[in-house]
Amino acid sequence: MATDFFNIDSALSEEERAVRDSVRRFVDESVMPIIGDAYVQGKFPKQLIPRMAELGLLGANLPEEYGCAGLNNVAYGLIMQELERGDSGIRSFASVQGALVMYPIYAFGSEEQKRHWLPKMASGEIIGCFGLTEPDYGSNPSGMITMAREQKDGSWVINGAKMWITNGSQAKVAVVWAKTNGDADQRSIRGFIVPTDAKGFTAKDQKGKLSLRASDTSELVLDDVHVPGDAILPKSGGLKSPLMCLTQARYGISWGALGAAIGCYEEALSYAKTRVMFGRPIGGFQLQQARLADMLTEIVKGQLVSLHLGRLKDAGTFTPQQVSLAKRNNVNMATNIAREARRMLGGNGILAEYASMRHMANLESVYTYEGTHDIHTLILGQAVTGLNAFE
Ligand SMILES: Cc1cc2nc3c(=O)[nH]c(=O)nc-3n(C[C@H](O)[C@H](O)[C@H](O)COP(=O)(O)OP(=O)(O)OC[C@H]3O[C@@H](n4cnc5c(N)ncnc54)[C@H](O)[C@@H]3O)c2cc1C
Repeated sequence: MATDFFNIDSALSEEERAVRDSVRRFVDESVMPIIGDAYVQGKFPKQLIPRMAELGLLGANLPEEYGCAGLNNVAYGLIMQELERGDSGIRSFASVQGALVMYPIYAFGSEEQKRHWLPKMASGEIIGCFGLTEPDYGSNPSGMITMAREQKDGSWVINGAKMWITNGSQAKVAVVWAKTNGDADQRSIRGFIVPTDAKGFTAKDQKGKLSLRASDTSELVLDDVHVPGDAILPKSGGLKSPLMCLTQARYGISWGALGAAIGCYEEALSYAKTRVMFGRPIGGFQLQQARLADMLTEIVKGQLVSLHLGRLKDAGTFTPQQVSLAKRNNVNMATNIAREARRMLGGNGILAEYASMRHMANLESVYTYEGTHDIHTLILGQAVTGLNAFE
């Protein structure tokens, strides 16, 4: 029985628990044995994709009529939690595929686009990536330079560069956000479904990462990439559209970070019970117990935040600002727990055979992407004061 100090299991439905348990088994059996090595090698373990698809983990909260699992948002969150207990890179893969590629096609696509893309993405046949961030526009995507120009025949030509794109080099399709027809106004931002084998499209892996190493991160270059008129997501319009995708992904991240925190806490707890120093297990020392008590307390608070947020999301009443609070709190909490857990493991804590330092390094990416911790602070600051402190 994994960490559940407040019997939060009792607030979950049978189906939610069953989904969580099946992903937990998958992670224990298939992710844990290989992830340390994949991380050191700097390779995303793509052999996991077929099983993830079979378990319904790709776009799990999207409807069954498009080949998805049709789960509620709490079950979806529990999936993210268990995947990230394995590794943030594995959860990032599923988040991008589901929340950042399938979701915009579902929310802003035509019926034809949905029927064409979603079943193949749920089955893992097609992997996607989400291109919003640019070399010069990260926290402020409204300044993006990438431009789509409409041609006389209704087709589009896209030029620009995207940076830090998860799944970029393995993707068959990219959802690319671009301004249309030379208009600098952010209202003109639209989403395009771009096949990555289109002429002029290149994806190059970003090397030298010290975080999220078991995940592909790429730079995309679009050099006069020509796409047909029906490549545009017809219902997308303005920065609000990609931000809606980020809200979906950030919700999942709030749960995912809990998974990383639980993984570190459990590793530290087990180590504390077995590592003997000065003639007794280090868990018998008050300083180590204080660390464990703090970790557990923060995990329980985070679990309650995410669970309640999931219930609000299922009721259709959650706000992006509430998602900001959950992402900001849970990722920060997990980052602190990972660091403390690593320290409790002493010298062993720097080895890849233990998970805490890998989680610690991964969580630096999670702290930065999907709105940095600072940006979520500003979102909350604006929500409570009504004053915009961004610029
Ligand atoms: C591993 C990884 C995977 C990623 N995957 C994707 C992906 O799949 N698709 C995608 O589009 N993007 C992706 N990103 C990009 C990510 O979303 C950006 O890195 C993030 O938005 C921050 O942008 P930046 O790196 O340009 O930092 P900057 O925006 O340059 O920020 C630098 C620092 O300034 C701070 N700052 C910025 N503005 C303000 C302000 N107004 N007030 C106070 N402080 C401020 C930030 O908090 C940060 O500390 C990924 C990033 C990483 C690291």
